[in-house]
Amino acid sequence: MPVISREETRRKRQMLRKYHTRLHSDSNSAYKLLIIKHKLMRRWRTTCYNHVGEMFQTTIARESFAEGVGLHTGVYGHVRLAPAPAETGIVFRRVDLDNFHIEAQGQNVARVSYATSLMKQGVLLSTTEHLLAAIYSCGIDNIYIDIDSIEVPILDGSAEPFMQMLEQSGIRKLRRRRRYLKILKPLEVSEGDRRIGIYPADEFRVRCYVDFPHPLVGQQEVEMLVGLDTFRQLLARARTFCFQRDIDPLKAMGLIRGGSLENAIVLTADGVLNGPLRFPDEFGRHKALDLIGDLALAGLPLLACVEAHKAGHALHTQLVSRLLADPSLWTITTGGAALPESEAYLTALSPAPAAD
Ligand SMILES: [Zn+2]
Repeated sequence: MPVISREETRRKRQMLRKYHTRLHSDSNSAYKLLIIKHKLMRRWRTTCYNHVGEMFQTTIARESFAEGVGLHTGVYGHVRLAPAPAETGIVFRRVDLDNFHIEAQGQNVARVSYATSLMKQGVLLSTTEHLLAAIYSCGIDNIYIDIDSIEVPILDGSAEPFMQMLEQSGIRKLRRRRRYLKILKPLEVSEGDRRIGIYPADEFRVRCYVDFPHPLVGQQEVEMLVGLDTFRQLLARARTFCFQRDIDPLKAMGLIRGGSLENAIVLTADGVLNGPLRFPDEFGRHKALDLIGDLALAGLPLLACVEAHKAGHALHTQLVSRLLADPSLWTITTGGAALPESEAYLTALSPAPAAD
């Protein structure tokens, strides 16, 4: 009897333990599901995977044109995209200043607050990021951007009009092998809770996270392999945005003189002044677009994964400058073996006469 009773007790205890374990794990997984559901509801995550690789350098096949007002200066300007020979890189030409060349490279970054500006020998060019994002994502290595003003026109606030220009222009392959900037060691830059890092990878991938305390924004994250198709599908149409409360202070700083409801989304305290949005997470997508436009200043296509956490133009361009300043962090490769002239990269990048 006592033996049976002990066995019975053990069995019951076991049953009880199993019951509690199941109950606990059920409630635990129910709780986890609730968290996931909650996160899904308040957090947009856009992911796309699409491998793009190209062995040869490219340029555009023919010229294309656009014109419009600059977002910050309000100055009206004309843009012409023109084909360029191999090893030219992306080069702005101020046609109003005797074709003065400003290479889209880290060492020409001038002033970065609400837009990225380039400056060389005192000649300024503002708000380059949307046009550069389109060119860089389309895999165009060599191009002249002729412009007769101090600022790239904002057009509709997105990169879509620039994508249309590039579609009109078409892409032409050149006979020279493409060179990539391959990251060998990680580099991170941070400022308070904002940070950005670049890490080794065999492709060009970005992850961009934003968090704005606004009912329409909140946390948004974009992760993607950067290429023509992914950029066109996911980011190109995402427009720039500002908060209505910031408009007067920005104007007082001499900024957004060309801003209007046609070229920027304006966020009110709890909504949007000029809807509808093009994507529910248009804000996060636009920040990823800005990030790619600033990374174009690396001067070569990247083989890297870049992660930006609440970063902005200042951190993006700091990362590029610090990266280029430390040749131990990267190498130049044609996709396979590293080229021996890595250390001569910065000088090699300056426009040189090329056969093609
Ligand atoms: Zn932007």
